[in-house]
Amino acid sequence: MTVATVASRALAGIDAPEVSVEVHLGPGLPSFHIVGLPDTEVREARDRVRAALNHAHFEFPARRITVNLAPAELPKDSSRFDLPIALGILAASGQLSQQGLPGQEFAGELSLTGELRAVRGALAMALAARAAGRSFVLPEGNAPQAALAQGARILPARSLLEVVAHLAGEAQLEPYSGEVRSSAASYADFSEVKGQQQVKRALEVAAAGSHSVLMIGPPGTGKSMLAARFPGILPALSDAEALEVAAIHSVSAHGFDAVRWGERPYRAPHHSASAAALVGGGALPRPGEISLAHHGVLFLDELPEFDRDVLEALREPLESGRVSIARAARQAQFPARFQLVAAMNPCPCGHCGDRSGRCRCTPERIARYRGRISGPLADRIDIKLEVPPPREAELLAPISAECSAAVRERVEEARRLQIERQAKPNALLGSREIDRYCATDREGDQLLRHALARLLLSARAYHRVLRVARSIADLAGKAHIAAEHVAESIQYRRLDASF
Ligand SMILES: [Zn+2]
Repeated sequence: MTVATVASRALAGIDAPEVSVEVHLGPGLPSFHIVGLPDTEVREARDRVRAALNHAHFEFPARRITVNLAPAELPKDSSRFDLPIALGILAASGQLSQQGLPGQEFAGELSLTGELRAVRGALAMALAARAAGRSFVLPEGNAPQAALAQGARILPARSLLEVVAHLAGEAQLEPYSGEVRSSAASYADFSEVKGQQQVKRALEVAAAGSHSVLMIGPPGTGKSMLAARFPGILPALSDAEALEVAAIHSVSAHGFDAVRWGERPYRAPHHSASAAALVGGGALPRPGEISLAHHGVLFLDELPEFDRDVLEALREPLESGRVSIARAARQAQFPARFQLVAAMNPCPCGHCGDRSGRCRCTPERIARYRGRISGPLADRIDIKLEVPPPREAELLAPISAECSAAVRERVEEARRLQIERQAKPNALLGSREIDRYCATDREGDQLLRHALARLLLSARAYHRVLRVARSIADLAGKAHIAAEHVAESIQYRRLDASF
């Protein structure tokens, strides 16, 4: 037999489409060609495979070797194919029986001495192998992550020799049986932030309905402390959500650590971040911060300091919950259903409105500063609130605030009502759904009309008032939206006029 085919997988976004690694040994001068990869990567793959085979005392065939990675148009980062290419060469040259190959998939980078090194995207590949009904042989270091795909048959291996022994029926690889899912996530606690009762209340409303938030206040008022603790009051991730989060992180540059299973992501990119870092990119498209924040929190501190392009790039994903990245011929889609929590100073110096009166910013400078957040983006932020400096008494008081768990209990109950009623959080209600699910009583309706005229709210903002009012009513366990709920919701749009 001079031909062998080994099953493997590429990465496309967070999917892992199948790749057939076909190895053909032909007559002619000894050579080693790999079709379907960029030149530089081909050279590296050839060197690693040749060295690993030699080191393990296999014969490197003195034939014309052609490796074809099919289909040709798939993006492939090459090192994952080292193991299937090596196995294909051994099988095509008769050094390994082909009998064991069907029903199994392989991925892994080879060191020059034949050890297997972890590759990117193990979870995505394991999910796809599971769907195809095949076992998955991969480097030991990838096993904890791959095993998050419950029911997948994961066969970790340390070296090429172990895989060959397994396929030859000499020493079967043991299915991975380690600890798969760790216990619940732990976040820093809400109770550690003193005072700021109104801000905490607004964050509870935001958490209940998955609303985006902008906090405006001088430095040192606890804005970032509150943001970092926000994931802790959000409902626990469902298994399906946790799997999506893990799959996205598993294809990112830093990978996914299985001990973070079930944790809501919290991403806080610096304001110098580029649009590509935020929305994703690269020759082999990788997820950006907004996708790494999928099902979690994206915290943008000093919002006006971000590049305008960067902020504009957020608008579409904020509506659609996903992002498309096109780079050259390659395109990828990533989910990006994040909850935006943003913060900013009230003026360039940060002390506008301060009792000390040390702010010297002119009204024009302040307007220009706030103007950096475009109207359409500001419109998409459901809740805007002022975070005042804490009063001295609050700072001196012993910690007596509610802990995150207590707040989360109320949030979870409110969220449960939403899922039962409309199968989605309030922030995602479309305009027709708002007509259906956000009925106000007569008093509430009058208040709303009055506010609409007085605050010159856009139609979009009007819908946002109703969505937030719905969340407030849900927290109170009320089926209808009453005036008090509308009143609180309008409070959170009061700052609209300054954007
Ligand atoms: Zn100022």
